Amino acid sequence: MTTADVIVVGLGAHGSSAACHLARRGLNVIGFDRHRPPHTFGSSHGGSRIIRQAYSEAPFYVPIMQRSYELWDDLQKRTGRKVMNITGGISIGDKRGKGITGIQESAETYDLPLDVLDPEQITRRFPMLHPHEYMIGAFDPRAGAIFPEEAVRAHLDEAIKAGADLRFDEPVIRWRPDRNGGNVQVETKSGTFEAKQLVFTAGAWLPELVSKLKLPMWIERQVLFWFEPKANAEAFLPQNMGNHSWEYEPGHSMYAQPNYGEGVKIALHHDGASSHPDRLNRLVADSEEKALREQIERYIPDLNGKMLNSAVCMYTDTPDLHFLIDFHPGHKNILLMSPCSGHGFKFSAVMGEIAADLVTEGKSNLDLSQFGIDRLLTEESQTSCPPEIRPYNA
Ligand SMILES: Cc1cc2nc3c(=O)[nH]c(=O)nc-3n(C[C@H](O)[C@H](O)[C@H](O)COP(=O)(O)OP(=O)(O)OC[C@H]3O[C@@H](n4cnc5c(N)ncnc54)[C@H](O)[C@@H]3O)c2cc1C
Repeated sequence: MTTADVIVVGLGAHGSSAACHLARRGLNVIGFDRHRPPHTFGSSHGGSRIIRQAYSEAPFYVPIMQRSYELWDDLQKRTGRKVMNITGGISIGDKRGKGITGIQESAETYDLPLDVLDPEQITRRFPMLHPHEYMIGAFDPRAGAIFPEEAVRAHLDEAIKAGADLRFDEPVIRWRPDRNGGNVQVETKSGTFEAKQLVFTAGAWLPELVSKLKLPMWIERQVLFWFEPKANAEAFLPQNMGNHSWEYEPGHSMYAQPNYGEGVKIALHHDGASSHPDRLNRLVADSEEKALREQIERYIPDLNGKMLNSAVCMYTDTPDLHFLIDFHPGHKNILLMSPCSGHGFKFSAVMGEIAADLVTEGKSNLDLSQFGIDRLLTEESQTSCPPEIRPYNA
């Protein structure tokens, strides 16, 4: 039997980073992935992800985000790969909406730079954006893009360089806790592997891997589009604009990235159907394009040109849309992390460091108290899953 200090299950955004940081600490790491990351079957494809500092979801993300920025910089320097591009980015919405007020709260709490713009100022600075008169914009100068495929490649390269044994196209079929004096065993097509600790970073497949916990999580189908602007194409280049997000109705948002060469990436955020990750509908319906075009026509009419491409991806959502980073309640040598409710990529650099801290020291210097598992095991949380997906978790 092959033994290791740590086994990492899932080598996408968070698992590649975990393998990298654990191996750099000198641990003997084996990592498995059911595919060959970066790939298009999980949650980490599509060319770009938004990174932002004035965090709308809650101020407690800010210190974690700031450490992630440092680690993205470090990863770029170490690998020579371009994984991040800072352009600044604007969030637009009703000034009383959660998106805008959340950003302002984070900026005030941590004294972060933020330009608050009225609709006229928004259009003067970004002539292609057409906000309603009741909307305002919050421009975060540290926002920009992370390139997910490059980021995953960079973390995997670093992990291998530091000695990790990474095995692709090799799904973990089952796992058993507490064998041979407390070790954990996992089984794959090539045999049984044993380690002192196990890190589950399996993204959309995590609920199934720990199905006995009946974690109240659901996999949300998301469709991404790339559009060619029908006018003012230059204005959509990264040197002229950053990313922009719109809370166009309370609780309903869309976001766009500049044109990094494939067209302008734009998508609705949430509002997707729930699915099992292995039964995800990867066909994009005309009605989905039409629904997005309605919002584009309203707010960014110059972008309402030819649709160049589309893709389907998955969010792994918790009821409060915050992360899960915690030990398995029954097994303190098993770490569960990665269901990031559609906003986790920007954190993946720091997720690896957190995994390494938790595995080696049992704690992190960052405040992770909002990401504990106990909140997901209450009756209220467990019944908050949409009914149609409960059998998947049962
Ligand atoms: C359309 C879309 C847009 C997004 N936009 C943003 C954004 O702008 N900013 C942001 O910060 N975040 C964003 N996110 C969220 C972010 O991309 C995800 O939180 C992040 O990619 C999740 O990473 P992960 O490591 O959990 O999952 P993944 O990267 O999917 O990795 C999970 C891995 O586990 C492997 N695996 C599963 N089961 C097994 C098994 N049994 N054995 C071995 N391997 C297994 C899979 O093959 C996969 O490679 C977006 C997500 C989507 C879908």
